[in-house]
Amino acid sequence: MKVVLRALVPLAAFVAAWTSGVQATGQRLDVTVAIRARAIAVGEVVVVTMTTDTPADEVRVKAFDRDQPAFRDSPLVWRAIVGIDLDVVPNTYVLTVDARAGEVVSHVSRDLLVANREFPTRRLTVDDAYVNPPAAVTERITQEAKELDLIWKSPAATRLWTGAFERPVPQDANSAFGSRSVFNGESRSPHSGADFSSPAGTPIHAPNAGRVVLARDLYFTGNTVIIDHGLGLFSLLAHLSSIDVHEGDVVAAGRVVGLVGATGRVTGPHLHWGVRLGGARVDPLSLLDALGPKTTAGVDFRRGR
Ligand SMILES: [Zn+2]
Repeated sequence: MKVVLRALVPLAAFVAAWTSGVQATGQRLDVTVAIRARAIAVGEVVVVTMTTDTPADEVRVKAFDRDQPAFRDSPLVWRAIVGIDLDVVPNTYVLTVDARAGEVVSHVSRDLLVANREFPTRRLTVDDAYVNPPAAVTERITQEAKELDLIWKSPAATRLWTGAFERPVPQDANSAFGSRSVFNGESRSPHSGADFSSPAGTPIHAPNAGRVVLARDLYFTGNTVIIDHGLGLFSLLAHLSSIDVHEGDVVAAGRVVGLVGATGRVTGPHLHWGVRLGGARVDPLSLLDALGPKTTAGVDFRRGR
């Protein structure tokens, strides 16, 4: 128990690195793997950086029973951005890296100790139609859940984002990711995004570049825009008063996609920003920390690389 409690502590940068050189056919391919995260915990984003001593043709990363798409950042540096879902049970998980240069392969595997995180409970009062929806909308809700599921499962195969992620509105987040949610006295699924206390009408900017894959009214999230940033990374922007983009649009970072409103299941105007990463629900503030303007520890995602 003591070990787990100690693992709860690191909200500062966590840095670990190791080196491996596995040889085949007499040649070597050395891979150094470095991990950086605000914390290795439920709902967090982890940046995995792989540095090879010779240019690799291919690098594969696997964690949480999923392939985690890796991309080349410079001739000798590859990266993968890994999300730890809200439902991941705190435990030790194995992360594996397989690199190949020509006929030479290298394999590294290490443990990821995922810590638990205590989430607060939030109690909200909303229109009862959003807590116990009438039978007339049951089919709509089911259909929308299926659509979202399909979107999370079919991301762009290439990286569309570049540079740092930026917050979509200037205001602070006021309702924490992961909060246990009680609506009108009834428990509902935990809060899978961050809420920003923005006044109605505030322009909402794309946190990074990508393709708009959904831009319309959904039952729970109201007027919603989903941006596919590629390689499994998505932004969902909810409760808009108006939408200024169309499905299929390719948007640059910072492009206004709509205005803050109070549509869907809300208590008042605000922006809800949700992030999906490889299917995992992660804290947008963790993404800002990992790939945002405050990025440190040698992880540099300047635009135009
Ligand atoms: Zn929210």
